[in-house]
Amino acid sequence: MPLLLIDLDNTLIDRTEAFRRWAQRYVDDIEASEADADWLSSVERDGYTPRIEVAEAMRTRWGIEASIEEIVEDLLLGHLVDIELDKEVVAALDRATRLGWHPVVVTNGTTRQQELKLGRTGLDQHVRGWVISEAVGVSKPHQRIFALAGELAGLPLQGGWMIGDHPLADVGGGHAAGLSTVWLRRGRTWPSASPQPTCIADSFPQAIDLVLTGGEALETCESDGTTGEVRTDTADGALEVAFSAIPEG
Ligand SMILES: [Mg+2]
Repeated sequence: MPLLLIDLDNTLIDRTEAFRRWAQRYVDDIEASEADADWLSSVERDGYTPRIEVAEAMRTRWGIEASIEEIVEDLLLGHLVDIELDKEVVAALDRATRLGWHPVVVTNGTTRQQELKLGRTGLDQHVRGWVISEAVGVSKPHQRIFALAGELAGLPLQGGWMIGDHPLADVGGGHAAGLSTVWLRRGRTWPSASPQPTCIADSFPQAIDLVLTGGEALETCESDGTTGEVRTDTADGALEVAFSAIPEG
């Protein structure tokens, strides 16, 4: 049974959209402007800016009275009610499981926040387990976190795949751990980081389709510096894998 490691934020769930909705509610509550919601999302950078820094910036900008601790708590948990699980994502996960794959979530973040996301959305019922960086004391892209996910599943990394949206954490880390990788590009161009993903997809269901046909695709994907790109929009709905070089930069 092959191992299928999957990132959580902006891979299984649309974290950016959930945060954007929460930010809009927040600025409405304090009677700030639409531009302030955009500002908050840009400062927060999908959770990559340390939350204490974001909280301090919010207090400076708006003069709000809440303590830093209270704002950090809001930043961590406020958007969880805004996360919606896409039925297509669930269907893709279940399809992989039916075909013998063993999906395990590998995510950076705090244990409480990430477990709440998995539980509230019901994703916990559609994967075999999860590894959260805070709980295990090591973060992506470190190879150890991928190894721990393999140990959790009782499966070797060899022959496994990692699906994720982050070029370094998911693709770089997964590659270094010996996994094939699918990068969810979310409208972006591959940032010419090294190494390149095995394949690129525009959605999680597409990524799963690619993994499920990976036996054939893999060989071609990795040949002569090209990267495969899965397409499922063919007229007859058949899966087609096209290959093209990834533009630099
Ligand atoms: Mg992510």
